Amino acid sequence: MTITLITGANKSLGFQAARELVALGHLVYVGARDPEKGRRAAEELGARTVRLDVTDPASIRSAAGQIKADEGRLDVLVNNAGIPGHLNSAGIPGHPSTAREVTAETLRTVFETNVFGAAQVLHEFLPLLGTSENPVVVNVSSGLGSIAGVPFEGESPVESWIPAPGYAASKAALNMLTAQFAYLLPELRINTVDPGYTATDFNGHRGTQTVEEGAAIIVRAATVGKDGPTGKYLSAQGPVAW
Ligand code: NAP
Repeated sequence: MTITLITGANKSLGFQAARELVALGHLVYVGARDPEKGRRAAEELGARTVRLDVTDPASIRSAAGQIKADEGRLDVLVNNAGIPGHLNSAGIPGHPSTAREVTAETLRTVFETNVFGAAQVLHEFLPLLGTSENPVVVNVSSGLGSIAGVPFEGESPVESWIPAPGYAASKAALNMLTAQFAYLLPELRINTVDPGYTATDFNGHRGTQTVEEGAAIIVRAATVGKDGPTGKYLSAQGPVAW
């Protein structure tokens, strides 16, 4: 049985991906920073749960220890937990922010979860992934992380593009980490994915896709075989320009 961990899987895209991977026969660990939310989600899904706050290195280490003790390996890691960024001057999270609002502190907040969190989870779980016959990592990025997507001339090739300097920079950094890990660890299938603009709490449910549509590329990347792609930036429509 494929052992899979999804961070931030107690709701929204992570929860939907967990639901579909359970249906495909994976033993899924719902990573949740709130154990009660994790327990409820896991119960509904027929999954397991582990407390994991990606900004808390001790909780990541302890989650890795628990899965090692229970399963002895990890086959698939989905780095899904993410935040939209700082509150803008209107107090709205994730709202397009102006260049003047960007400070080291606003960047640090969003990088803490979206980049350092994902990197630390990967670091702690690499030894367990190393015991799998087909280790797979999915980094859940965004089309906003595409530098080629910034609309310098005319329309952006990224649907629903908005200016969001901190968030976009964090996802671009996650994309580069993906490429670097793919180069350094050819035994790993590691890809970064853009779920597309999806109605979740993340954007006050303004997204135009359903969670089923958004989770499709996460599930596809989580189920690649040994000969599958690695070091790619993918959406449901195909490759995304870096
Ligand atoms: P969401 O509805 O806000 O859910 C985010 C999940 O991440 C929740 O389970 C949340 O837990 C968890 N989380 C946040 N910070 C965490 C932390 N420090 N440790 C552990 N878990 C944490 O967001 P979503 O729309 O499902 O987004 C999931 C991923 O897709 C994110 O990486 C996001 O950047 C990416 N994405 C989303 C869209 C979109 O349109 N929705 C588009 C492109 C990319 P709590 O319930 O405890 O808050």
